Amino acid sequence: MRVEYDRDTCIGMYQCVEEWDAFEANKTDGKADLKDSDEREEELFVREIPEDEESDAKFAARVCPVDAIAIYDDDGEQIVWVSPKSSLVRFTPEFRLAAGDHTTSGSSE
Ligand code: SF4
Repeated sequence: MRVEYDRDTCIGMYQCVEEWDAFEANKTDGKADLKDSDEREEELFVREIPEDEESDAKFAARVCPVDAIAIYDDDGEQIVWVSPKSSLVRFTPEFRLAAGDHTTSGSSE
């Protein structure tokens, strides 16, 4: 399982920091930092998720109010949210607004 983090989209609300300790608050930049990640393209950070941290990572993705965190399984299927810069999936602004309603997002598990 891997995470893609679109740091450009991040608005520094830091909910993800509370859910998964791979995310750190960067108060200087007003953004979260994803520890031990690689910058695949500008401001798009990726890393593998250790098995025992998968649940925390999913929660971090779900609580992000701007959908800056996307989680993919080992087959490349998106599990939680979408990164707007991802080459795999793009959603319309209308969809992303709807997806911002967390009551519709977390019931699949
Ligand atoms: S929850 Fe989203 S907006 Fe808030 S710091 Fe984390 S990535 Fe950024």
